[in-house]
Amino acid sequence: MSQAFDVVVIGAGPGGYVAAIRAAQLGFSTACVDDWSNAAGGPAPGGTCTNVGCIPSKALLQSSEHFEHAGHSFAEHGIKVEGISLDLERMVLRKDKVVKQNNDGILFLFKKNKVTFLHGRASFASASAGQYTIDVAGPGGQTLTARHVIIATGSTARALPLAAFDETRVLSNDGALRIAGVPKRLGVIGAGVIGLEMGSVWRRLGAEVTMLEALPTFLAAVDEQIAKEAFKLLTRQGLKISLGVVIKKVDVGDEVTVHYTDSSGADQSASFDRLIVSIGRMPNTEGLKAETVGLAIDERGFITVDGECRTNLANVFAIGDVVRGPMLAHKAEEEGVAVAERIAGQHPHVDFNTVPWVIYTSPEIAWVGQSEQALKASGRPYRAGSFPFMANGRARALGDTAGFVKILADAATDEILGVHMIGPMVSELISEGVVAMEFRASSEDLARICHAHPSLSEATKEAALGVDGRTLNF
Ligand SMILES: Cc1cc2nc3c(=O)[nH]c(=O)nc-3n(C[C@H](O)[C@H](O)[C@H](O)COP(=O)(O)OP(=O)(O)OC[C@H]3O[C@@H](n4cnc5c(N)ncnc54)[C@H](O)[C@@H]3O)c2cc1C
Repeated sequence: MSQAFDVVVIGAGPGGYVAAIRAAQLGFSTACVDDWSNAAGGPAPGGTCTNVGCIPSKALLQSSEHFEHAGHSFAEHGIKVEGISLDLERMVLRKDKVVKQNNDGILFLFKKNKVTFLHGRASFASASAGQYTIDVAGPGGQTLTARHVIIATGSTARALPLAAFDETRVLSNDGALRIAGVPKRLGVIGAGVIGLEMGSVWRRLGAEVTMLEALPTFLAAVDEQIAKEAFKLLTRQGLKISLGVVIKKVDVGDEVTVHYTDSSGADQSASFDRLIVSIGRMPNTEGLKAETVGLAIDERGFITVDGECRTNLANVFAIGDVVRGPMLAHKAEEEGVAVAERIAGQHPHVDFNTVPWVIYTSPEIAWVGQSEQALKASGRPYRAGSFPFMANGRARALGDTAGFVKILADAATDEILGVHMIGPMVSELISEGVVAMEFRASSEDLARICHAHPSLSEATKEAALGVDGRTLNF
């Protein structure tokens, strides 16, 4: 059976499903093909983000934070809790339920927007006369033709060349989200965003967590002052983080032993009950049969695109993790919307300079724009203001006073160039920085906006006041 569409989207992660909805909203007949299956073999749209990424990791981060608070912070609030115990099975089931709610939500949105969803693996069969033919293998198996194709096939965890994922002892993000019992000794290779989040979950639940990071600098992409504070706070919580290590060998048996050299070059080894490997992600292009239609893929495996997500093929676009740029769900979504609108002849623009980043540790870390070290390196004169949560009334009431907000602004024009935060709920607070930068606000603009009291967002206002040396409450 063959069906013709204006737009076929390959992949229903945050990039693909949003692109499909927007294309349908714009009046195109649209199909979206995705091969992710749930445990029962049924469709599970939402991609990495919904199934084994953003959503389940945040569900477990929340549950594990409740567990830690119940054990350590409630007493300070005058709440006595006795006999706290962990029901890990239930915690994981709750996480799975949250995932399913999101899968179902996407299927509902497809239906509502009249997007045809097919569960299966898509590959290019041919291209001729401005039409692409796409084979779909799997339960929804059929052939589709499309005038426009949006590739949103995402990415997969990169394995260590020395130890393949078995999801029992050596875990990717997938296995890390469903360990059957809390490991006594957990190793994490890679102290980036995913490693820190997964390490935090299992530390809070009782694991002794050791993190081995190849780079000599902790969170090298983060503003140095924030990264330094994060290192101090996270190691104080019990995460053991070694930087500048070189992994030499991994022995997998009843336990996993990692042989490595430390930052001084000395040989070391450490044994773990489980090892999470979070050393980056690889774009998914295998199985697409890119060669059939001559789709260009670069030497690192990413689909080659221009600034507007156009591939080398007419009317074929690629978005999200499978192309250059930050591997973030919201970046994929913005590209998805922009591409659908471009197909409709509109002129959207995705501003990479205002894409926010968040690390959902406790305290959370969030930033947008340029770091202080990047501004120094570029030679652009700037002024900085910062404000600690310790001096914020709401943070004190919450009992969550670690961290600070820092704002960097151009020395001459006062335009905000970067907003950096570490502290409570900064994943939410960073949006104010994004809006300000998107509208090219000055720090003076932010400083003169009335912020509710008492609120954590007052720390942002105070940091903006600080750019001009006018902080009021510190
Ligand atoms: C543990 C973890 C936590 C994360 N947390 C965050 C976070 O908090 N915030 C954030 O912004 N990002 C986070 N990310 C990153 C985020 O998940 C990705 O950036 C995002 O999912 C990319 O979206 P995408 O649409 O490009 O691809 P994906 O979400 O990877 O979706 C691609 C889909 O296409 C399917 N597919 C691939 N090939 C084919 C084919 N040939 N035919 C049919 N279907 C195919 C895949 O199976 C998948 O379902 C996290 C990632 C991980 C691993």
